[in-house]
Amino acid sequence: MLEVRPREDADRGVTLLLGSGELVVAHAPAGARSRRRFGGALEPGARVRARWTHARQGSRAVLTEAEPQRPAPAPDPLERYYAACHLLEMARNISQEGLVDPRVFRLVDRCIEALGTGAPVDALLRYAEAWMLRLAGVLPPLDACEVCGRSLGGGAGLHLAPEVGARCREHRAPGSAALGPEATAWLRRSRTASPDRLEALEEDVDEPLRRALESLLIALTGRRLRALEALTRLGRERS
Ligand SMILES: [Zn+2]
Repeated sequence: MLEVRPREDADRGVTLLLGSGELVVAHAPAGARSRRRFGGALEPGARVRARWTHARQGSRAVLTEAEPQRPAPAPDPLERYYAACHLLEMARNISQEGLVDPRVFRLVDRCIEALGTGAPVDALLRYAEAWMLRLAGVLPPLDACEVCGRSLGGGAGLHLAPEVGARCREHRAPGSAALGPEATAWLRRSRTASPDRLEALEEDVDEPLRRALESLLIALTGRRLRALEALTRLGRERS
């Protein structure tokens, strides 16, 4: 369940991400009331088994039943809740951009699972952001500068910018985000890492990674990442 919006009376409008990676926007009549049909399932982030029908071909789907299989992320602690919202928001944005891929569902599902079992929030989100970009085909290879071909391995670090890919310091595009050697190495390792076994990121590695990945995601979908903004503000207030 990606989104749940209030409608007239006790109705709800919902957006579901299917296991196939497709989005389904549906109307849930009396969604806020009917425990029998929807008990606990109409919450963003809940994994549900759902049924829906179409009154006629091409009309909006009507949700007839939804059964929770994993409850929605708890609102407390707030940091983990915002993190889950960020995962859902990314999945919705990237799916609306036309990416239909079962790996989007699996990525969100595994990351929400890992969030609930204590995985470090920052590392998990950077992992998810990097993978969303990979699935959309816009995280460039990080091996060599795309202008001069110089290796970006070892202690070199790199500069990332939307549309222009990864470049060395000399050929960096205006406004690109600089990643040091550690952040670069982390991003490479995230290809094969497992989301439930990530280690916490140091702030000086996490921050540039967040900025770089955020700008690529925004360039890809044209939408702000509101949950991530809220999470970043929360982090600032607490430090
Ligand atoms: Zn270069």
